[in-house]
Amino acid sequence: MKIGIPRALLYYKNEKLWTKFFDELGIEYIISPETTKQTIENGTKYAIDETCLPIKIFLGHIHYLKDKCDYIFIPRIESAQDRETCLNFRAQYDLVKNAFRNDDIKILFYNDMGHKVHKEYKAFRKLCKFLHIKKSIGKYAYNIAKQTQLYYEMFRSENQENILKTSKKPKVLMLAHAYNIGDKYVGEPIINMLDKLGVQPIIAEYLDSKKCINASHNVTKTLPWSYNRHLIGAIELYKNKVDGVILITTYPCGPDSMSNEMVVREYKNLPLITITIDAQDATAGLETRLESFVDILNFKRKNENE
Ligand code: SF4
Repeated sequence: MKIGIPRALLYYKNEKLWTKFFDELGIEYIISPETTKQTIENGTKYAIDETCLPIKIFLGHIHYLKDKCDYIFIPRIESAQDRETCLNFRAQYDLVKNAFRNDDIKILFYNDMGHKVHKEYKAFRKLCKFLHIKKSIGKYAYNIAKQTQLYYEMFRSENQENILKTSKKPKVLMLAHAYNIGDKYVGEPIINMLDKLGVQPIIAEYLDSKKCINASHNVTKTLPWSYNRHLIGAIELYKNKVDGVILITTYPCGPDSMSNEMVVREYKNLPLITITIDAQDATAGLETRLESFVDILNFKRKNENE
């Protein structure tokens, strides 16, 4: 059996958990290649107009995988850190079933639903049952995979903290969902442009999730979405350690439209720019806007040092 893993959406949050789990069980898998313009064009054909760009990209990756594996891996994930996720992460299984109804696609999934303790492990246990894997072997594979994911997250977070302490360059906190900042077509060009402009990006997504979500309660008591709380909490924790903030959002995103508005109103004294990426233009024309923003950061730095 060969499993296809779409390099999209929550792959960017669970990469180590998923791949290590299948590695430990000796199950073969392929991961779709990095996103290109063609991936987006392919995904757009399966989507309705109102669909957000990351879902179009996701559908493009499903299109790539559909004839190359026995099962495509699409879990339903309803919550993270005891908070809700965007509805799309619950609906992605059904979305694919519907969009690819004329193709003979088989989906492998686990349902990580609700807010119960050990819910993720229980969801993986059901997945193992479906795969006819003994409970003890499945538990061992899950534990190893979970540890690998947690170490990876800890390493990334420590790395960002080190950069914050040691880099002499102007620093900007990049507020973007994992699947936006990690995507070759969406996030990488922006990071590269900043690099050329001599700016050090600090990736909010890679900072300690628990600390960020806790800090988000200083800003909002009611925002439901865990991933947006992580981003808002990152500004709250690091606002005095960075020179500015870049909000990267993909069109059209309900959760981001609400939380970005909150950020703009709450952090009026921080230099801040919002970059919206859509399927048509991607990052075209961005360089000039980023150059102007970096000029502002440099000017502010110079004034503070005089
Ligand atoms: S959070 Fe926004 S960008 Fe992400 S899947 Fe939901 S609507 Fe799309």
